[in-house]
Amino acid sequence: MTLSPGEAQLLGWLDAQHQPMVALLGQLVDTDSGSYDEEGVARAGAIIRDHLEARGIACEKIAQADGSFSVKATVPPRDGAAGNAHVLLLGHRDTVFPKGTVALRPFRVEGERAYGPGVADMKAGLVMNAFVLEAFARFGGGARPLVDLITSDEEIASPASRPVIEDAARGARAVFNAEPGRPSGALVVGRKGAMFITIEVAGRAAHSGGAHEQGISAIEELCRKVLELHDLTDYETGTTANVGLIRGGQSVNTVAPLAVAEVDVRFKTIAAMADAEAAIARILEGAHLAGTTTRITRKAAFLPLEQTAASRAVFEHYVACAAELGMAVGGEYAGGSADSGFTAAVGAPTLCGTGPIGEKAHSPDEVCHLDTLVPRAKVLALAIARLPA
Ligand SMILES: [Zn+2]
Repeated sequence: MTLSPGEAQLLGWLDAQHQPMVALLGQLVDTDSGSYDEEGVARAGAIIRDHLEARGIACEKIAQADGSFSVKATVPPRDGAAGNAHVLLLGHRDTVFPKGTVALRPFRVEGERAYGPGVADMKAGLVMNAFVLEAFARFGGGARPLVDLITSDEEIASPASRPVIEDAARGARAVFNAEPGRPSGALVVGRKGAMFITIEVAGRAAHSGGAHEQGISAIEELCRKVLELHDLTDYETGTTANVGLIRGGQSVNTVAPLAVAEVDVRFKTIAAMADAEAAIARILEGAHLAGTTTRITRKAAFLPLEQTAASRAVFEHYVACAAELGMAVGGEYAGGSADSGFTAAVGAPTLCGTGPIGEKAHSPDEVCHLDTLVPRAKVLALAIARLPA
């Protein structure tokens, strides 16, 4: 291994940060921050901001349309390096767990494993990014501005954070999204995109005994549409449609005036997303039962992370830096979606899953491999330090 003196300084400092990293992780995990828990998400943001500002790192609080905020921390480049494209570190501080989860199962460490809500997805990634940022700040900055963006609502497809993420990613030399590393240690080099759509069918209520013929069943119309929606699934192209929730009707003896379905559609490319959107519009427009109307009442979407020549080059660069530090890292494709799709779509070479290794996200058994906190931080720091022009 041949590190420059500057690289040795960065990595040597990170080597000694295991305990402080675990301490910050514990503080973050013990702060409930479910996506709909505004106060908790704000508090988690304040913890990271206070942590960074206490270390002399400039933080900006970026207000978002719904009253929430993202935190943007910046370490300027060393003298004479102004004008180089920046590197963006990305992470979300919301979790899928509602307020009160921490009281039931707070942060817990057993050997080299840590447990608690959001410990892997992705509070460990936030901690890693914060320490990489601090490493660069301590030793005078790198060859490029280093930006760390901490967002508020990824688990619900980032309705408020998305424009802030896209702004921060525009023109970036590389984006590293610290979602948990795969159990194998692999990064995520591609992800499916997703749309979550709520549809509502309106029919006409009538007594099912006395006036059956006057009713128009929203449930029947919805059922026919569910079959059409499921027909969008094509494993060959990777597009899938799943109606995961349905509800409707008023009573057993009423022809149903209303029915609602929630659909999850996944796709591999932006072109496939456009195809699916057009097909869904056609399905919703038509009526099997005359007199029914169908509308979309909610829609949220993640864009797919499509690999490009530029993002493949950043991946190969990261793999080479990992090898330099004695680690073998692969790349995997993931069916789940993330903010990395938004950064890739604005043209920024993006790598996802750079965070510490995690497993069983979104479940009570979620676990973070603590022994990967420092190693992953070191690879990331080296990859940033050596990023070619
Ligand atoms: Zn996540």
